[in-house]
Amino acid sequence: MKTETKCIEAGYQPKNGESRMIPIVQSTTFKYDTSEDMGKLFDLEAEGYFYSRLQNPTNDYVAAKIAALEGGTAAMLTSSGQAANFFAVFNLAGQGDHVVASSTIYGGTYNLFNVTMRRMGVDFTFVDPDCSDEELEAAFRPNTKAVFGETIANPALIVFDIERFAHAAHAHGVPLIVDNTFATPINCRPFEWGCDIVTHSTTKYMDGHDATVGGAIVDSGKFDWMAHADKFPGLTTPDASYHGITYAEKFGQGGAFITKATAQLMRDLGSIQAPMNAYFLNLGLESLAVRVERHCRNAEKVAAFLQNHEKIAWVNYPGLPGDKYYERAKKYMPNGTCGVISFGVAGGRKAAEEFMKHLKLAIIATHVADAHTCVLHPASSTHRQLTDEELVAGGVAPDMVRLSVGIENADDIIADLSQALDQVK
Ligand SMILES: *Cc1c(COP(=O)(O)O)cnc(C)c1O
Repeated sequence: MKTETKCIEAGYQPKNGESRMIPIVQSTTFKYDTSEDMGKLFDLEAEGYFYSRLQNPTNDYVAAKIAALEGGTAAMLTSSGQAANFFAVFNLAGQGDHVVASSTIYGGTYNLFNVTMRRMGVDFTFVDPDCSDEELEAAFRPNTKAVFGETIANPALIVFDIERFAHAAHAHGVPLIVDNTFATPINCRPFEWGCDIVTHSTTKYMDGHDATVGGAIVDSGKFDWMAHADKFPGLTTPDASYHGITYAEKFGQGGAFITKATAQLMRDLGSIQAPMNAYFLNLGLESLAVRVERHCRNAEKVAAFLQNHEKIAWVNYPGLPGDKYYERAKKYMPNGTCGVISFGVAGGRKAAEEFMKHLKLAIIATHVADAHTCVLHPASSTHRQLTDEELVAGGVAPDMVRLSVGIENADDIIADLSQALDQVK
């Protein structure tokens, strides 16, 4: 199946007489005939459901669709993108371990890593995604367990050189995790470039309608845990809480990572997506290919308009010819990048705030990547906890406006931006 078809058909095939749409299994618990039947589930000896804190059929249908879209072997849904990134990293790295991460990642992820996970004893080295080979090499330590980056950084719009970071990670015997939220599998499939684990904030384009917060983790099934058994004891040595099963042996390369994250992290931390939300997410996924294409075409027109406007100081959009990341984007995302553009209004921070006040169609919202056009001033909102140095290191200029181009008619979006810019003195 081609990607557009997978958006509709993958993950759930109803049998004779069953509902065409995925059923919402709105149940915390599941019934069994014998204790023995249920015991097999607790031993991970049989597949099935017993409690919706760990797994739910609705979620699994939707996760299977996302796995198919990414070309992975297994996937799980989480309650948010934050939970997805936390689980993906914590499934590999615990106290005393270390992770190499791109410095230009989403502010929430940066905070998760740099503050919360450090408090849990996981250390991070943040590297500029365009750093020299020497700097990248120097970031690795003997206790490094993973490398992390974002396909298109939110909000810096830096395109991550997936192949380069995958080579570096693999040379050190660790997997590359890529947050593919902005590109979506419609525009980029990181597994095709050597990435091992993909994460998503499904809150963004995948849901696409401002309806539900959620996340997903997908395993490529390509990373050979057993070949680096000493680095990943959680996957390659017996788990006493499941009668000594070893995930990498019992579930193989394709299943070990997601099974461990479900059996241990979902069990203990319970950050599962509600089945109702998974249902809404599936509705979003059905139109994902159509919407993402429109987001990209609209954003390309809007970026070209901004670039030629005298009151605009600079424009970053990897889909704009001449952009610093245009060539790299062409390699990884030949059909388009995303709907998010960042730019500076001439006159700096004050002019940017003034401009935003006059917008009528584009609303001010912390959100991005959905049907409605919206704007945000990151330095005074999402990134306000960062110092000026951290802002610059994260690719966020203090005068930056982040514009998420929706799927309205591009002419209406441009007219709104134009009248607002006219009013900036
Ligand atoms: C929004 C976002 C997240 C966090 O996702 P939530 O669903 O808000 O928890 C993580 N990564 C990226 C790239 C994002 O844009």
